[in-house]
This record gives sequence, structure tokens and C-alpha cells, in this order.
Amino acid sequence: RRLPLDSSEEPGVRMVKGACFSKMKPTPVTKPRFVAVSNKALSLLGLNGAEVMSDPLGPEYLSGSKVMPGSEPAAHCYCGHQFGSFAGQLGDGAACYLGEVKAPTDQSAELRHENPSGRWEIQVKGAGKTPFSRQADGRKVLRSSIREFLCSEAIFALGIPTTRAGSVVTSDSKVIRDINYDGNAIHERCSMVLRIAPTFLRFGSFEIFKQADENSGRQGPSYGHDEIRGQMLDYVIETFYPEIQQNHSDRVERNVAFFREVVLRTARLVSQWQCVGFCHGVLNTDNMSILGLTLDYGPYGFMDRFDPDFICNASDNSGRYSYQAQPAICRWNLGKLAEALAPELPAGRAKAVLEEYMDLYNGFYLATMRKKLGLLRKEEPEDETLVTTLLQTMQNTGADFSNTFRCLGEIPCPSEGEQGVVGEATDLLLEQCTSLEELRVANKPTMEPRELAMLLSMAQSNPALFQMISDRKTIGRQLEKLNKTQELAEINQEELRGQQAQEWTDWVTSYRKRLARELEGQSNVQEVLEDRLRVMNSTNPRVVLRNYIAQNAIEAAENGDFSEVQRVLKVLEDPFSAQPSVEQPASVGAEQAVSDPQGA
Ligand code: AMP
Ligand code: MG
Ligand code: MG
Repeated sequence: RRLPLDSSEEPGVRMVKGACFSKMKPTPVTKPRFVAVSNKALSLLGLNGAEVMSDPLGPEYLSGSKVMPGSEPAAHCYCGHQFGSFAGQLGDGAACYLGEVKAPTDQSAELRHENPSGRWEIQVKGAGKTPFSRQADGRKVLRSSIREFLCSEAIFALGIPTTRAGSVVTSDSKVIRDINYDGNAIHERCSMVLRIAPTFLRFGSFEIFKQADENSGRQGPSYGHDEIRGQMLDYVIETFYPEIQQNHSDRVERNVAFFREVVLRTARLVSQWQCVGFCHGVLNTDNMSILGLTLDYGPYGFMDRFDPDFICNASDNSGRYSYQAQPAICRWNLGKLAEALAPELPAGRAKAVLEEYMDLYNGFYLATMRKKLGLLRKEEPEDETLVTTLLQTMQNTGADFSNTFRCLGEIPCPSEGEQGVVGEATDLLLEQCTSLEELRVANKPTMEPRELAMLLSMAQSNPALFQMISDRKTIGRQLEKLNKTQELAEINQEELRGQQAQEWTDWVTSYRKRLARELEGQSNVQEVLEDRLRVMNSTNPRVVLRNYIAQNAIEAAENGDFSEVQRVLKVLEDPFSAQPSVEQPASVGAEQAVSDPQGA
């Protein structure tokens, strides 16, 4: 690594100035043991999962309790914008680099393309205090580690770029996170994830070079060092974007091309999240990978019932990181990266590149949505409307996002007969919709009616003040919910079903008209139909990591049964297959994701 290291070996929590990495030692845990391993992720390192699991030293090394020969553990110093404000020095507070592993020489061309460095950075997350732990202990518990482990591998299997997870190790060392109702501390087991990525460098890695915003009242490590910024930028481009390095002799042009590639990758990544209903939850700039990978699995969530306002992070009161906010938030984050790269990246050039972002995003999004709807032969300008009305119908009827998409493939094309088809399709879609009870809960305004009324009258009398204290979108949404609540109060379950059926019948009818045009002039209709089903079933997952699936695995593991984690991993590794990939489902498990969207 060509970056200067902090000379101190002490993990004392502190401000670290003038360094990108601090040497440290992971803190050993008592009796480390495996909860689960990902054979696929470990194979990146040339390791065999079964061998690692049966090796008594396996959990020692993969938890950081023993340091491998040649390893120089370190914690990375980075900054970041958290919830919109510059937060100064953050850094790896719980993660610890063990080093880099050379990729096996027989790596596939695809992998070499994904990771041109030929090396994998490996980290232990939950390895104990680092200089960047601030008030926290640098530990992770079983819950958070299993969540990160399962979702890293699930997102990978969905074909979405991500950091990987090789193993989860738990131990007899304990930390306290919560106090129970009796006032007693709950002791939880320290548990560690082995993370793997070409690099964990992030937007925030470049933000350490930028002076803290004076208004934030906090000071980041104020390097202002052009030289080290240049070194890190060179390292990233030469190592991970070699084509850009080779194709540009002019430094500024190279940097612009690099920024454009990061913009493109980020736009594509977010489009992929949107298309599987994934919400990251904490899109701070320090959680934005410089390679366009999904990074840092915390309070993430896959949507069940479609709701554009879906918020998975309980501390995100304003909905800054809601599902529908993700594309725009990532653009904002890219703007912060551009600022951090100045003066390597002229502001005018960065602005021009950023202006391409929304078009790039929309292009990727629509291309995937066409696949999800099985529209492969023709592109029509109205396709966007078909997608919008589908989502609107899902929202109105409280339909499950993943299951609705998955069953679209079962709607027969017009060539396959007309008799009763729309009615059957409607019935199928109605099975994915929610009950009146649930819809009522979902549409409860979060604002008190009085508060809402007050805000509305203020909007009339003092628009400037109204603008200052609230944003119109939130209020608009609250009003919608209020109307919907009144509507729902007046109907019964049967009437609701009738309404839902009408909405779905309308949509299915327009969808089938579109499918008819898809088949127009096609000589081999059978081939088109087969293609359609194949593409739809490899774009619309049968199973995603719903919250309750993770929760079941966690509860079993907390009771000492680790088999459910490994079983869920196996199901998630094959998310598109038509058949459950595990023959013996546990009492409550991932198989139910399809038949029981609401969960146990
Ligand atoms: P996150 O919201 O997960 O990106 O974390 C924000 C910051 O808090 C990062 O600098 C993390 O390294 C740090 N952090 C998160 N969890 C812990 C922990 N258990 N101990 C110490 N630092 C942590
Ligand atoms: Mg983070
Ligand atoms: Mg985190």
C-alpha cells in the first residue's frame, strides 16, 4: 500500500491527522466459532469453505483473534456527510483491515474484469476498538453480523454489485446494547463478519482532504494536502480503473473520465436497488463505494408491500433515505465526491457530468423494468407509463412488490387465448394484495390531523414560512394518506376487493394490449414467449431477504441453532429458481416468502 501509515500501534480513540490508515490490532474474542460461511465468497480468496470450517484455527483467524502471518491490520480514516451535513472524521470504527489476498490465478475473466487489481481486501467487521471508534466499542453482535452476512450474499446473487461476506463468527465475549424492561442489561455475543471487496475505499475516503464545513461546528482532519489526494486518486484509478488510466495521458481528462465512470456505476447500482425493492437505509457519503458497490449493510430493508415512501432506518425521521429518495440522494452524494476531488476535478466539468446522471439512471431503470415486464422486442415511449401505472396500482392495492412482479410472467400473452384470462390474472394479482386491516394501518397519516390542518392554513396565509418549516412533498403525501384513510373508513373488505379487482383488471388489460404489440410481426411467437418467461424469471426474484426471514435466522442462531443461517443463505444464493432450492423447509423459513408475503 503506497499510502502513509500512522506510526502509532495504539488503538487509542483519537483524532488522527495526516494519515489515511492507522495500524492497530484486532481485539481477540473468547471461544470464536463459526455461525456460517459462504463457500462462494471464500472461494474468491482461494479458500474452501468446508476446510475452513473444520480447521480449529479457522474462526480464530476469520474473527481477527489471531493475526495471519504477513497481515498488517489497520483501520481506515475517512470522513463523510451524514444525513446531509459534514460529520468530520468518521473512519473504520468497528472494521479492521487484515490486508490484501492475491486472487487465485485461475480466476474467471468475468471476475478479473470486476476486480482488475487481482487482489482482494479483507476486513473483519466487529474487531474491537480502533482509533475511530468514537464513543462506541468497535463490536458487532450476532443480529447485525448475520444481517450483513446474509444480505451481502443475497445482493450478490441478485446480480447487484456489492462487497461480499465470507463468514460469520460468534464468541463467548459479550457486549451490552440494550436494557430490558426489568432494567437489566442484555448481554449479546460479539460476532464478526469477514468482508471481502476489491477495495473498501469510499467517497468519504476522499473527503478527508476537504476542510470541514465551518458551519458544521466540527473539524475534520484538516489535511488540505493536494499531494496525498493525488496519490489516492492515482492509486484508485490505476488499480481499479486501468482502462481509464491507459486511455488518458492528460490528467484532468483522466479524472473526468474516472468521475463519469463512478457516476455511471452509481446510477446503475441505484437502478438495480430500485428494481428489486431494496432500500439501503444509510446513504451517507461514507457508505458510498468508490467502485459502485453496495456497501455497509445496517438497517437496510427489502420492501414487502409497495410503498415509495418506504423507510427502513428507524432513525431516519425525515425520510431522507426512503426508497424513492435513493436515486436523487446518490446524485447528491456524487456532488460531494466531486467537491472532495477538487482541484483534481474542475468544478465545471464535474457539473456537466453530474447532469448526465438522471438520464443514465432512468435509462438503466427502464431497461430493467422492461425485462421485468417481459417487453423485449420493442421499445415504446408509453412503456414508462405502463411501469408507473403498475407501481401506482401496487401502491393503491397494497400489493407485494417482489411477488407481484414474479407473477406477471404467469399472465398469458394474447396469442395464448382470451377466454377468462383477464379475470384469472386479476385473481392472481389480488392474491398479492393486502387486506383492508393492513391497508388502514399503512395509510394512517403520521401527522396529527390538527397539525396537518394548521400547516395547511399556514401554507395559505404565509407560504414563505411554510416553505421554511416543511417541504411540500411530505405534506402532500400526508394529505393523500388522510384522504385514503377517510375512504378506507367507509368501506368493508368485500368492497375493497372489488376496487382492487377493478384496478388490476384495468392494468392487466393495458398490459395485454402492450403484449399484443410485442408479438406483432414476430414470425416465431413460441420463441418470443419462451424468451419472455426466461428473462422475466431471471429478473424478478422468487425470493428476497425479507426482514422476517433474517429475523428467523437470527432468533434460531441466538438460541444456538446456526443451521437456519446456512439454510437461508442457500435459498438466497439461488433467488430466481422456480423450485425451492432446499428440500426440507424449516417450520418457518424462506420458502414462505412467496406464499406468505406478510410473514410470520
Ligand atoms: P455507519 O452508519 O454504519 O456507516 O457508521 C457510521 C460510523 O460509525 C462509521 O465511522 C463506523 O465505523 C462507526 N461505527 C459503526 N458501528 C460502530 C461500532 N460498533 N463501534 C465503533 N464505531 C462504529
Ligand atoms: Mg459505514
Ligand atoms: Mg455500518
